Amino acid sequence: MSRSAHPAGPRHADVLPEGHYSAPPTDLNALDAKVWAETVTRDTDGVLTVGGIDVKRLAEEFGTPAYFLDEDDFRARARSWRTAFGDDADVFYAGKAFLSRAVVRWLHEEGLNLDVCSGGELATALSAGMPAERIAFHGNNKSTDEIRRAVEAGVGRIVLDSFQEIVRVAHIAQELGTRQRVQIRITVGVEAHTHEFIATAHEDQKFGIPLAGGQAAEAVRRALTLDGLELIGIHSHIGSQIFDMSGFEVAAHRVVGLLRDIRDEHGVELPEIDLGGGLGIAYTSDDDPREPHEIAKALTEIVTRECDAARLATPRISVEPGRAIVGPTAFTLYEVGTVKPLDGLRTYVSVDGGMSDNIRTALYDAEYSVALASRVSEAEPMLCRVVGKHCESGDIVVKDAFLPGDLAPGDLIAVPATGAYCRSMASNYNHVLRPPVVAVRDGEARVIIRRETEEDLLRLDVG
Ligand SMILES: *Cc1c(COP(=O)(O)O)cnc(C)c1O
Repeated sequence: MSRSAHPAGPRHADVLPEGHYSAPPTDLNALDAKVWAETVTRDTDGVLTVGGIDVKRLAEEFGTPAYFLDEDDFRARARSWRTAFGDDADVFYAGKAFLSRAVVRWLHEEGLNLDVCSGGELATALSAGMPAERIAFHGNNKSTDEIRRAVEAGVGRIVLDSFQEIVRVAHIAQELGTRQRVQIRITVGVEAHTHEFIATAHEDQKFGIPLAGGQAAEAVRRALTLDGLELIGIHSHIGSQIFDMSGFEVAAHRVVGLLRDIRDEHGVELPEIDLGGGLGIAYTSDDDPREPHEIAKALTEIVTRECDAARLATPRISVEPGRAIVGPTAFTLYEVGTVKPLDGLRTYVSVDGGMSDNIRTALYDAEYSVALASRVSEAEPMLCRVVGKHCESGDIVVKDAFLPGDLAPGDLIAVPATGAYCRSMASNYNHVLRPPVVAVRDGEARVIIRRETEEDLLRLDVG
């Protein structure tokens, strides 16, 4: 489609409508290394390639929409977290970000542990051979059946989230004639998100037991008296997509304060502290995440300093990155179906997926980048909103982004950093079939989660 086919024409910076975006990039064909996995490049024809395979070929073979996950990048990120924290700490990958059997095997091979938060995630982990002792079980309302399965399997820890659960897990463990290793998840009154954090005395949320009002201390008291439980530590998770370490600083200060109180009251020094996940990644060029080694250094220093001040031996630290490992490793490939320019506003670009494969924009107002993938273009940038095919006007994939002014139906576009919380939160809204996840490595592409079929949908419909 030529430029003149767009009555609105490309939008220039001085006439742009209000929105959450920076000025158009100088080169729309360039791939910012911040948001694209290392092995994603353009070939000599300008076609996007991942692990040496071009996206036109991938689209032909696997269809669109589809998630393409760079296995080497995943392994490298997992390894860099593992190495950054060393042997005196544990890294638990948060399975809810994206879980499949292949991913479980990679994590196992790279020496990471795994967080699960449902029977389904536990079953996936165990079926792919993750040793149970390397699994932590989370959740604010685990069913008794889920708890029983976790205890029977011998998971390394259950993270207790409520007073009821303390009793429930203790009871089940005793019934099964075992002692379950547990942590207590507390809320320390820190809510962290991206560049800010809020520290309050109270915590208004469903997760965890509040430190405020002595509730966490009471939970510890109870857990210590129950034969079915071996209390190994305190857990705190303060938010998501965090760049600023100061929220962790306040959280660590408060958790260590509790450890000191526990020592003073019970004469026990709990051996572990879990600081949760939530480390941010770059979705757009405006985001500047820290490297795992910087994060490891900062967190270790904070905990050590706080423990020295409280005259406690430094406990073993664990962290639970999900997004920071898998998020940057995948992009979603879509085919453009329609292009609708709206004069003075923006151009709506409809793709063959949407909120069913990426709910984050609709749910959290998340920001993403996007690039023309099947070719390069020298056309002027036009301000676009990339939308899906669902019956919902909030069905937005990328709210504001610049794409070349000659974008046309049939073009492939790619949205980077969709490895976390996209396939794992995917739905069948409008009976749209959930896309496959294709792992790419050394010039080979392999389906690790296949595309859903109408047969899959109808199999569940037994009415
Ligand atoms: C969601 C969650 C994580 C992972 O969060 P990311 O933002 O993916 O790093 C870690 N720990 C707990 C307890 C969580 O709920």
